[in-house]
Amino acid sequence: VVFIMSIHDEFEFIKQITPKGRLKPDILVGIGDDAAVIRPFEQTDIIACTDTMVEDVHFTRKTMNPYQVGYKALAANISDVAAMGGKSSYYLVSLVVPSNWSQQELIEIYKGMEDLANQHDTVLIGGDTVSTKGPLVVTVTVLGRIKSNKNLKRSDAVPGDLVFITGTVGDSAAGLHILLYEKDSNTYLINRHQLPSPQTEAGLLLSSFDRVALNDISDGVASEAIEIAEASNVDIELNESMLPLSKDILAFGRDQAIKWALYGGEDYQLIGTVPTENWDELERVFIKNRIRVTRVGEVHKGTGKVYLKKEESLFELKKQGYNHFKNGDRNE
Ligand code: ADP
Ligand code: MG
Repeated sequence: VVFIMSIHDEFEFIKQITPKGRLKPDILVGIGDDAAVIRPFEQTDIIACTDTMVEDVHFTRKTMNPYQVGYKALAANISDVAAMGGKSSYYLVSLVVPSNWSQQELIEIYKGMEDLANQHDTVLIGGDTVSTKGPLVVTVTVLGRIKSNKNLKRSDAVPGDLVFITGTVGDSAAGLHILLYEKDSNTYLINRHQLPSPQTEAGLLLSSFDRVALNDISDGVASEAIEIAEASNVDIELNESMLPLSKDILAFGRDQAIKWALYGGEDYQLIGTVPTENWDELERVFIKNRIRVTRVGEVHKGTGKVYLKKEESLFELKKQGYNHFKNGDRNE
């Protein structure tokens, strides 16, 4: 335990963020000891991932309140687990705290995480708290699970597969644009930016198929499609007219909407490929579960390139995420 400027009593702080109620039977030791102890389920593999959000790089206080910072930091991780086809189970939080964040604001961060965690049956089992003279840093680590040998890798795309996307894309970037530059508000788009919904259910549905290559959309459709194409050593052709766009984003015009979809990121939807003969079944299962899924392109023989087909022309897409707060920087 180290003295932290904005946290007056660390014991009291940890008590406040500790989940109330009984632990799940698989958590043998939760918060309060040196480390958590979990008993693995039989016939399951463990999925582990971590993601960091830095103030003024990944968010600003102007566009995100503390609750939303927590919600989104956890969402990014639950989304990574979903993109492997798994379900999140536990999370740990490392907080690097500057003096201008109050204890109440830190507790709000945990409220945001807890509300999302409850929707995904996921429990806080530990973390660490230190002070800094720099910006706030929130690092979330999630452990999830999946039936043994069922994980969905980005390297499994094969020529002849179809490419699909869940939900709609570009909404988060549109929401951020509104927060930064527009006078008129749009609750739907702003919500997509501040409180994104990781696609756990879609990932689980996909994990029941024999072969699916899958990525979550954290950096924009172009970048995620390139990751699948490179990992699988194939080319991908996306059809511009098929990209799933919300009616709210189309209010900004189709060209702008497509740019946000391709390069905006933080939608936390899923992009993947499936053998053509499985497409009808996949669509049926998604309709039955009321999850939107759209066919957007095809996989071809190739060397890791992604092309966008617009009318009858093909353009090669390049990775180009960007940092919205510092012009030109990559937003990793
Ligand atoms: P130690 O000195 O053993 O690392 P700490 O005082 O750092 O103990 O932590 C005590 C307990 O509180 C541990 O279970 C730890 O996982 C948990 N904890 C500490 N900080 C946080 C945090 N920011 N979020 C969640 N759990 C935390
Ligand atoms: Mg510690």
